[in-house]
Amino acid sequence: MLLQIEDLTVEYQSERGKILAVDGVSLSVNSGNLLSVVGESGCGKSTLAYSIIRLSPGKVKKGKIIFNGKDLLSLNKKEIRQLRGKDISMVFQDPMTSLDPLEKIGTQMVETILAHEKISKTEALNRVQELLNIVGIPEDRINSYPHQLSGGQRQRIIIAMAISLNPKLLIADEPTTALDVIVQDKILEIFKELTSRNISIILITHDLPLAVERSDFIAVMYAGWLMEFGRAKDVAASPLHPYTQGLIDSVPDLWVDRKIKPLKGFPPDLANPPSGCRFHPRCPKAMEICSRKIPPNVEVNNRMVRCFLYGN
Ligand code: SF4
Ligand code: MG
Repeated sequence: MLLQIEDLTVEYQSERGKILAVDGVSLSVNSGNLLSVVGESGCGKSTLAYSIIRLSPGKVKKGKIIFNGKDLLSLNKKEIRQLRGKDISMVFQDPMTSLDPLEKIGTQMVETILAHEKISKTEALNRVQELLNIVGIPEDRINSYPHQLSGGQRQRIIIAMAISLNPKLLIADEPTTALDVIVQDKILEIFKELTSRNISIILITHDLPLAVERSDFIAVMYAGWLMEFGRAKDVAASPLHPYTQGLIDSVPDLWVDRKIKPLKGFPPDLANPPSGCRFHPRCPKAMEICSRKIPPNVEVNNRMVRCFLYGN
C-alpha cells in the first residue's frame, strides 16, 4: 500500500459559510496502480488530491493520510515541500502554465533534474532523452520551444518532467481536458505505461468511460462524498451507485456505441447540501429514506458503495 487515506474531511470557509468539500473519504492506492477519481466539477476531486500534498486552501478537519508509511498531516512545511516534486509530483490541466515559453524543452527538463540531483549535465541529458522516449516524443524535440509543439505534445513533455525525479506518486488533475479524445487516450496509455514502471497515479477526471479503460481502481465522488470505490473493471461491468450509473450513461464512450442519457440537474451548493443522501434530488432510484437519513459506506463484493440500495 503506497497511499492510505482514512476518513479525510476538508473544510473551506466560503462567502456563504463553511463547506465540507471532502467529507469522510477513505481510499487507498497500491504501488504501480492507476486510480481515477471521477465526478462532475465541484464534487471535491481536486480538493481530495491537493490535500495530499497540502496544496488545497481547505483545512483538514479530520482523518489520516499515510504515504509510504509516513503520516503526511504531521509533516512540517519544509518536509512537505521536499516531498512535492520528488516523491509526489503533479500534472495540471494546462501544460502552457507549467512550461517556460522562452526556454527550449531540453533545457527546461535538464534544469529541473539538475535543480534536485547532483549529476552531470550529460547524465541529465541522457535521462531527458530516455524520458522523451517513454512519453513518445522524438528526441530532436529537445531543441523546440513550447509553442512549436501541439497541445498533446506539450502535455507529454509535462508528464516527462513530472516523472524526471522518479516519483512514487503522480497526481494528474484533468490533464487531458483540453485535448481531443484520441490524444486523451494516448495520454492515458502513457499513464498506464508509467504504472508498469511502478509509479502510482491518481488521475482526476470527469470522464468516467475514458478513465475506466486504463485505470486499476475508480473512486466516484459526489458533493464531497465518496460514492463508490472499487476495481475499474468491476465498476465498468456493473456500476452499483446510481450516480456512477448516471455518469457512465451521460458521456459518449470511445469504444462502445450507445445512447447518451444526460444526468439531470447539477451538483448541490455545498454551503447548503441536501438532507440525507446528497444525491437524492437527482437520483432516479431515490426512496423515502434517502432524503431523511445519511447513507453509510457499505462493502459490496470488494467494493465500497454509499447508497441505501445496498447492504441490507
Ligand atoms: Fe439514490 Fe438513495 Fe442511493 Fe442516494 S441513497 S444514491 S438517493 S438510492
Ligand atoms: Mg477540479
